[in-house]
Amino acid sequence: MKPSLSRRYILPPHMLTSLAQHGTPEQRTKALQMLGHDHSIRTIRMAQGLLTSKYVGVRPALNTDKALHRIVYDVHGTKDLPGAVVRTEGQPPIQDTCANEAYDGVGWTHAFYLQIYGRNSIDDAGMPLDASVHYSHQYDNAFWDGERMIFGDGDGQLFNRFTCAVDVIGHELTHGVTEDECHLAYVGQSGALNESISDVFGSLVKQYALRQTADQADWLIGHGLFTQQIKGVALRSMSAPGTAYDDPLLGRDPQPAHMSHYVDTVEDNGGVHINSGIPNHSFYLVATRIGGYAWEKAGRIWYETLRDSRLRPTANFRMFARLTLSNAERLYGASSPEWSAVHDAWEQVGVQVPTLAKEY
Ligand SMILES: [Zn+2]
Repeated sequence: MKPSLSRRYILPPHMLTSLAQHGTPEQRTKALQMLGHDHSIRTIRMAQGLLTSKYVGVRPALNTDKALHRIVYDVHGTKDLPGAVVRTEGQPPIQDTCANEAYDGVGWTHAFYLQIYGRNSIDDAGMPLDASVHYSHQYDNAFWDGERMIFGDGDGQLFNRFTCAVDVIGHELTHGVTEDECHLAYVGQSGALNESISDVFGSLVKQYALRQTADQADWLIGHGLFTQQIKGVALRSMSAPGTAYDDPLLGRDPQPAHMSHYVDTVEDNGGVHINSGIPNHSFYLVATRIGGYAWEKAGRIWYETLRDSRLRPTANFRMFARLTLSNAERLYGASSPEWSAVHDAWEQVGVQVPTLAKEY
């Protein structure tokens, strides 16, 4: 069993900060509580990121049959994890929408990684995928704690139930994949890469579930989470970072799409949920230029890069970009349209990349 890692929340801290400033007394209290929890685990997250790389220790293989093993628990409005078992692998849907959505979302994520990239669950060793729903009371968040997905119901005023967006589930579980493969340190540019990789594969899980081509996809993260009261469409936009929402309570989407607008901040671990807009947009540009199903070529290049032993936990955007070029060349050739798409996309977002293969 993997050690319990730090929590990865889907709601970014800048959104909670805005709520803490502009919300009702109840909203402010809840946002501050969540921010307080986030801050308190931040140093642990940093330390774990640096100490538990994949080069330390050997995990036991849990199962090799590549079968999916899901268990959905109901916490019944408490924080008593994991809660009571309400649906296990192979059982039919139950009356609870949240439990069924969690079951399906985890299933799509597992199927995506297995069918497309041959990956056997998060750790590639058949780790069972558990989810707990109805966490706490009107809880406005979802997170991965290193062992399971945990979903709040949302308060109904600002946020809907957090099980409703399959890309959010893909995003959260991909944090587990990244921790397993490279352990990109959750701070600064490596942290923004960590966030971006979760957005990339979260979006691909949704596109895979809907059988959408790059042109058909909405390239939004968390579409459906906001209630009608919020002026916005999603938490983030990969096609147009910085445009996902602009709301009196939640503030304005702060994501840049280009290095010239890179946000230097000490908040959010150095803007990991903010500057991820730059590599997010690069992936979007690659996928839409290549066309077809984004998971086939663009996704393959990103996945192989994540698994590349040269990708260090402290990698910055340029290092990551070079490795995507190297993997595009290995997979499709140095003068291939795929290589050119990757090269031009990084240039378009202002990340300098070499023009000649020998330079990376
Ligand atoms: Zn995340």
